[in-house]
Amino acid sequence: MCAGCGQSMVPGYTTKNGRRYCYYVCRTAQKGGATACAGGMIVGPRMESAVVGALYELADQPGGETLRQRLPAEPAQFDEGAPVG
Ligand SMILES: [Zn+2]
Repeated sequence: MCAGCGQSMVPGYTTKNGRRYCYYVCRTAQKGGATACAGGMIVGPRMESAVVGALYELADQPGGETLRQRLPAEPAQFDEGAPVG
């Protein structure tokens, strides 16, 4: 269950450098994009840097402010197990 909207969580993925990386999004975020729900994305700690980079690129795009606020200030902080979501 998503803490933000109560919808069930479903697997999602992002593609970077030809590889597919999985994470979980709620149905609201799946339909409306990662920024559609404040609690709509769960990504684990110690993600590969390519995935983290993709997330930060997404957050830098128009409408990505909500996602950006939920990311650690620096991508390297993912390696320290920063909770996201
Ligand atoms: Zn949600």
